[in-house]
Amino acid sequence: VTVTSSTAFQPVLERIAEEIERTPGRGRPADYIPALAACDPRRFGMAVAEPDGTVYGVGDWRQPFSAQSITKVFTLALDLAREGDALWEHVGREPSGNPFNSLVQLEYENGIPRNPFINAGALVVTDRLHTRTGDAAGELLAFLRAESGNPGLTFDREVAASEDAHGDRNAALAHFMASYGNIDNPVPVLLDQYFRQCSVAASCADLALAAGFLARHGIRADGTRLLSRSQAKQVNAVMLTCGTYDAAGEFAYRVGLPGKSGVGGGIIAVVPGRCTLCVWGPGLDERGNSVSGVAALDRFTTLTGLSVF
Ligand code: GLU
Repeated sequence: VTVTSSTAFQPVLERIAEEIERTPGRGRPADYIPALAACDPRRFGMAVAEPDGTVYGVGDWRQPFSAQSITKVFTLALDLAREGDALWEHVGREPSGNPFNSLVQLEYENGIPRNPFINAGALVVTDRLHTRTGDAAGELLAFLRAESGNPGLTFDREVAASEDAHGDRNAALAHFMASYGNIDNPVPVLLDQYFRQCSVAASCADLALAAGFLARHGIRADGTRLLSRSQAKQVNAVMLTCGTYDAAGEFAYRVGLPGKSGVGGGIIAVVPGRCTLCVWGPGLDERGNSVSGVAALDRFTTLTGLSVF
């Protein structure tokens, strides 16, 4: 099947959902907080949004789930829009090759995290966005609501409280970077912002639409510009190289698109100029990426021929 017109997305999605349904082995939900461990790994949803806001979906595509690290793409874009290249003095843009919550590289790199998508880097980005806006999590939520057109999109208090109760590792990362002067806000203030950010509950439809500016080369849903064309390209590039934990090479190999996953089992992906996708399946592989999500995106690019390569 080669997609020649946009309406051909719907049959492709239905075919993928049927294939996923027949595939045994979905991985295991994240178990670092009880609120995520309770998810059913057989849930599956997928949405594709076109640059004009038309959205196609299948399965549980309207069911809100925990966005988690997918939000790191949006805070990066929001901060980059405000401070531009100065951000890159505080966070790098190389893949880490280490797990998302690793501390090991921070010491010999003087408190500058490898990239904005590992937790250390995301904490730096949220800290800087918070300094500039006075409410990083609120800024993120307002952006997601506006871009998705869903005013009901919100934080999940139970997930945020659960993150907080099990937050020692993130607290350690933040304190360690603060000791190098790379965090502006008091660590408890930053952690509160970061845990609320991670707790955003949104559906595949919401997140595919919210990521639309990355397919529109930086233009928001209302036609205003968030990022320059070049910055949108940069965010997509960092997603490709760093967006799927320490499996970004495998994801590029199988899917061939910029993507960002979260431990809630969601993955967003971008076909610049063409469409954005979001897929959700709560069962994760050993590196923290959704098993059915990666499989579905793999099938999507194979069936449609859409890829950045
Ligand atoms: N809230 C999670 C944490 O910071 C996010 C992890 C993720 O989705 O990668 O541990």
